Amino acid sequence: MTTITVAKGDGIGPEIMEATLEVILAAGAQLRIEEIEVGEKVYLAGNTSGIAASAWDTIRRNKVFLKAPITTPQGGGYKSLNVTTRKFLGLYSNVRPCRSLHPYVSTKHPVMDLVIVRENEEDLYAGIEHQQTDEVVQCLKLISRPGCEKIVRYAFEYAKQQGRRKVTCFTKDNIMKQTDGLFHRVFEEIAREYPDIENEHWIIDIGAAKLADTPELFDVIVMPNLYGDVLSDVAAQITGSVGMAGSANIGEECAMFEAIHGSAPRRAGQNVANPSGLLQGAIMMLNHIGQTAVAEKVQNAWLKTLEDGIHTYDIFKEGVSSRKVGTKEFAQAVIANLGKRPSVLKPVSYANSAALELPRYKRRQAADKVLEGVDLFVHWPGLEADELASALTALETQEVKLNMITNRGIKVWPEGFKETFCTDHWRCRFKPVKGARMTKQTIIELLAKAEARGIDSIKTENLYAFNGEQAYSLGQGQ
Ligand code: NAD
Repeated sequence: MTTITVAKGDGIGPEIMEATLEVILAAGAQLRIEEIEVGEKVYLAGNTSGIAASAWDTIRRNKVFLKAPITTPQGGGYKSLNVTTRKFLGLYSNVRPCRSLHPYVSTKHPVMDLVIVRENEEDLYAGIEHQQTDEVVQCLKLISRPGCEKIVRYAFEYAKQQGRRKVTCFTKDNIMKQTDGLFHRVFEEIAREYPDIENEHWIIDIGAAKLADTPELFDVIVMPNLYGDVLSDVAAQITGSVGMAGSANIGEECAMFEAIHGSAPRRAGQNVANPSGLLQGAIMMLNHIGQTAVAEKVQNAWLKTLEDGIHTYDIFKEGVSSRKVGTKEFAQAVIANLGKRPSVLKPVSYANSAALELPRYKRRQAADKVLEGVDLFVHWPGLEADELASALTALETQEVKLNMITNRGIKVWPEGFKETFCTDHWRCRFKPVKGARMTKQTIIELLAKAEARGIDSIKTENLYAFNGEQAYSLGQGQ
């Protein structure tokens, strides 16, 4: 018997949760259910995170959370409960299987069967954003070695467990050499530990095009957060319906399971919603808690029900479907098929699908870190980089000199192009002269001089070499 936390959510949430629980309990799931309230009601009662402190206690105590979709009210500074839950509970891995159910669910990709493993905590989702000048805002993209190691290892271990043959990595490291570069490097390092699994890397743009065009080329795909967010919806959609896919959010301690779709408020209370997405999430949950035989029984009954042509409105098609049913009737049909297996679609076998045991991240020995310069970011409304450069040379000392100025990453001094469009946000790089050593004190002095001369410094970024390797980007055109 496993105790799980359940949230029935908003919109169609309560109906699809009821259907899902009915099916898995009828299949013999050994569950004790503790229900919590999250979502719209909690938000509207004035809690901007959509969840009360006592509900967190329940989730953290039980460690396994089955969640129906919720409605995030528009405006009012309401924080996404999904993002908060993933981050607070360290649910670093988002797993989304996307499989075609041809010929029972219409799709242009009849043989597609892939799994997207999306990093779930980092990247642009760290949510660190600032306005720095009248014209420029920024969002920090944070990628960490532990983040990369954990998700990439998860992808390979998952592939091994599921008997999948290949893991593909998507990044944009031709442009983001530090952040996506780290993700790609870690992928190559970890791939070497799994010689029996094929590995490959695609630049995300052509990778995404291939995924949309020939998804049958892929098996497991691992990627940073933002790309994974976008492409997992694309992958689910091209199987025929986003309403059919479930997702698992896995951490070292806790896990959350859900449908990938939202609360579809316009369909609420009408007994029409398809419970399949949440049921798929629940099947992943049963595998996670080791109730693999029940998970297998439910999945095969679900496949058989789809094969029988018993379909909810979203996948109903004249000539293919035999009966259009509501949420409750669909659940009853799956229950009636428990113990049966599909005959055209491939039945599943989950004998080895229990939770993966992954090693804890081990921090490496600290590198030799040397300060090699500083980027001083300046808010300056002028247009001529040469003019800014002459103002900045007044900040130079015996040890540090102005090395270059870029605007939105493009080098505009020395020897810029007059055609380059410039905003009011300038990155001014200072580097030590040959033989001189730079310290934090040098940066403080630079800032003090800038302040005394009325130059509006908005931030500094230190330029480091780690173990002798330059660890910052050059200016475009440098
Ligand atoms: P949605 O996924 O709720 O709906 C998109 C479309 O798909 C609608 O036409 C809907 O009727 C249909 N649909 C979705 N699920 C279905 C199902 N199970 N059966 C049949 N049809 C289904 O997306 P949306 O309309 O953009 O968002 C509605 C609300 O859901 C918003 O408040 C949003 O914040 C929230 N949302 C929540 C989650 C979550 O809790 N995980 C995820 C996405 C969106």
